[in-house]
Amino acid sequence: MYDFVYTPQSSRVIFGAGALARVADEVHALGAKKALILCTPEQEAQAMKVSDLLGPLSAGVFAEAKMHVPIETARRARDHARSVGADCAVAIGGGSTVGLGKAIALESSLPIIAIPTTYAGSEMTPIYGLTEDGLKRTGRDPRVLPKTVIYDPMLSLSLPLGLSFVSGLNAIAHAAEGLYARDGNPIMSLMAEDGIRALAAGLRGIKTDPRNLSARGDCLYGAWMCGSVLGHVGMALHHKLCHTLGGSFNLPHAETHAIVLPHALAYNSDAAPDAMLRIARALGSESAALGVFELGRELEIPSGLREIGMKESDLDRACELALSNPYWNPRPIEREPLRSLLQGAWSGSRPPM
Ligand code: NAD
Repeated sequence: MYDFVYTPQSSRVIFGAGALARVADEVHALGAKKALILCTPEQEAQAMKVSDLLGPLSAGVFAEAKMHVPIETARRARDHARSVGADCAVAIGGGSTVGLGKAIALESSLPIIAIPTTYAGSEMTPIYGLTEDGLKRTGRDPRVLPKTVIYDPMLSLSLPLGLSFVSGLNAIAHAAEGLYARDGNPIMSLMAEDGIRALAAGLRGIKTDPRNLSARGDCLYGAWMCGSVLGHVGMALHHKLCHTLGGSFNLPHAETHAIVLPHALAYNSDAAPDAMLRIARALGSESAALGVFELGRELEIPSGLREIGMKESDLDRACELALSNPYWNPRPIEREPLRSLLQGAWSGSRPPM
């Protein structure tokens, strides 16, 4: 029987090939007059294009976004936004750039227009992260949720295939855990299943042809669905474990998610049979864990944590760290099975059925 609470969090969404051309209209729609454009150094050319499209509405480009939003970068961006009189920020890029926009909004309530170019999904969540003295602090605040999101699949054509694949699997992880969330609801489950289906099809499509715009569109649509799930419901073992691995062993974010997911799903599989059924159905597989594992093999992502810099000798410490901070999960977090999950993720073996 249904029993849930659902509080929609809404952003305005503009979706379509070429939608970037509507960025000036969207700044006007917010009633803003000066938009500071945020990006990483690698995406400065895309940000300059946004600045050209904005013309007199542009307050210039701040091209210093970095992974995990160091507090120093956030402070510099906030000061810069103030000094140029920005009354809105346009973040064009992946989770790192959207994260910088959120760090500005957290302090100033400046409205954010997000233009995502990866599949990480941060643009759909009120979750922010800031790194100070090597420690990443995360929190939720409705002020950081972007007011407007422009999804333009043409912007993701330049996303290298390897990054596209791990980013897409990172998005699938949001939906997969959303399907067994303690505070889940039927709307999020619909979005999660459709998001996984769209991403699996889109990722396979771009493997065949990286410039297939329709497949890029499927991926971005899936990212929207999966990001919304992350924004609405709580995550569990998989996300907590990846946060620990990324933070304490400096592993790359999306790759870590992509590698760990099948093993985390195998861990939870008996405790969340309905969720597993829906994940497997969306992937066209008999099992959720194996479906994700086989998709990863097909996309040729790194197969184990050992391939992305994790030392086997650090697995015991990773296990202790993961146990030291208790959180809800459909199956209790226990030392021995958790240690064997980590071993499997490290070596890249097939997850147990
Ligand atoms: P990213 O934003 O760090 O981008 C990775 C690299 O790819 C960067 O150099 C970027 O400039 C480049 N890039 C992005 N799009 C490109 C494109 N279309 N063409 C060419 N290059 C492109 O990577 P990410 O995986 O999107 O984000 C990871 C970060 O986001 C992590 O810090 C993670 O914690 C955070 N995140 C936050 C949330 C949230 O809800 N707060 C959700 C997911 C991820």
